[in-house]
Amino acid sequence: MKNGNCPKCGSGEVYSGIDLILKGGPFASNSIPVSLTSLAPIDNYVCVTCGYVERYISERSKLKEIARKWDRVVPEKSDEPSGE
Ligand SMILES: [Zn+2]
Repeated sequence: MKNGNCPKCGSGEVYSGIDLILKGGPFASNSIPVSLTSLAPIDNYVCVTCGYVERYISERSKLKEIARKWDRVVPEKSDEPSGE
């Protein structure tokens, strides 16, 4: 999605709000809680053809903080065929 192509519908009409001023800070409308005292601003990528949204945390320090504080989701063993 960061390359400008929608993974859901294949459209090239992808827009990004990464430069929005209000995405971070104490009044952030576009952040997720990392801990009681920490928020991580989110970069959104939106496909205006189908409405699909992809979200990323771009601050490396927040990613490291999450790795320290959150529970890791252990990947399932992939010894089964990967069908759904
Ligand atoms: Zn799309």
